[in-house]
Amino acid sequence: MNIPNPEGQGRLIARVINKGLCVRCGACVGLCPYFNYFDGKVVVMDLCPAGTFQCLQVCPRADYEGTSSFKGTSAGDIGECREILMARSTDEAIQKRSQYGGVVSALLIYALEKEVISSAVLTDAGDLFAPKGRIVHRRSEVLDCAGSRYSASGGLSAMNTALKKGYSRLGVVGLPCQMEALARMRLVQPDGEERADAVSLRIGLFCTWALDYPSLTAYLARQKVEGPVLKADIPPPPAETFKVQTQVGWRSFPLSDIRPMVQKGCFLCEDMTAETSDISVGTAEGRNGWNTVIARTETGSQLLKRAINEGWLETDDLPGASLDHLREAARNKRHRARQAEIDRSTQDE
Ligand SMILES: Cc1cc2nc3c(=O)[nH]c(=O)nc-3n(C[C@H](O)[C@H](O)[C@H](O)COP(=O)(O)OP(=O)(O)OC[C@H]3O[C@@H](n4cnc5c(N)ncnc54)[C@H](O)[C@@H]3O)c2cc1C
Ligand code: SF4
Ligand code: SF4
Repeated sequence: MNIPNPEGQGRLIARVINKGLCVRCGACVGLCPYFNYFDGKVVVMDLCPAGTFQCLQVCPRADYEGTSSFKGTSAGDIGECREILMARSTDEAIQKRSQYGGVVSALLIYALEKEVISSAVLTDAGDLFAPKGRIVHRRSEVLDCAGSRYSASGGLSAMNTALKKGYSRLGVVGLPCQMEALARMRLVQPDGEERADAVSLRIGLFCTWALDYPSLTAYLARQKVEGPVLKADIPPPPAETFKVQTQVGWRSFPLSDIRPMVQKGCFLCEDMTAETSDISVGTAEGRNGWNTVIARTETGSQLLKRAINEGWLETDDLPGASLDHLREAARNKRHRARQAEIDRSTQDE
């Protein structure tokens, strides 16, 4: 694509989109009318004459003087931790629908019912198309979105829609790159702070990588996986498999087949545990049906305490060995990403 304006949108297209580094977080989609998300792809609809830089400022894969301060600034390997523990939902219906222990869905339903938030931006399965962002208001809608889709969803475009409609007290669930986009949004000129203030709760998911949706669907079609994928999972090492469940049951595929479909931009991502969220949630090593939970801020800590005290979550101590492994995995991800960035800069020179 020819770029008439080398700044603002032009810089984002040249440095992120044309280089295949977009990780489909959705933060630019709907913030700017010239970007759209459809079926796993972020599409440039037209070239922006304004040069306002907002898309560039918010993009987690773009360097921008005023807003890139989150990249690589973590003091530790998993960021700020006020509390770290294992937990699961005490509600069987939530446990049944969710990916692991249902902590994310339980916290969301708790926050909606106790009016901590008025609505939330989640990711749904996307029916016949790629996963996508969805605005939800009630328990049944949270449960519709439960479970992990291992491709990126452009989910923050739904947040931009909600903000445009004047929603406030929003909850947002997202991957670390999406949490970084939210953190950058606060610094975006001219009205980022106002937009960020409308988000009252940020729940981040742990993430090692996400897959390119078109490549994944083409692969599953070649493997004759028919019908919608009901659930997907990546069991912990040493399994080395990617599992999908359809109406006819589970099938497993070697991770070596899946890894080539990882989004190119994920190799530059330093954050494994969503360090800029209020609460981060991942799997619990060696404990099926449980989550590892990190409360990072006063908001996150208060919500977690209330949900535990009122019996919505059952908890246990996180074993020292699991914490060590988590820290090591987070350090390794950061190290690999920094090396990839050095390699990329050297090639660009
Ligand atoms: C792409 C991806 C990679 C992940 N990698 C790891 C990892 O390496 N290690 C680890 O411990 N955990 C990882 N997770 C997190 C893990 O799969 C669970 O989401 C997390 O443990 C919460 O479990 P839960 O039972 O509380 O979730 P649930 O209660 O089932 O809620 C899951 C929530 O995730 C949201 N969601 C689903 N898919 C996406 C998506 N593509 N983008 C944004 N939000 C989404 C849904 O809106 C839902 O609200 C990953 C998740 C994703 C989506
Ligand atoms: S990474 Fe996010 S903000 Fe950047 S171009 Fe892609 S969708 Fe837009
Ligand atoms: S690895 Fe990073 S960039 Fe890729 S999906 Fe996960 S959080 Fe986003």
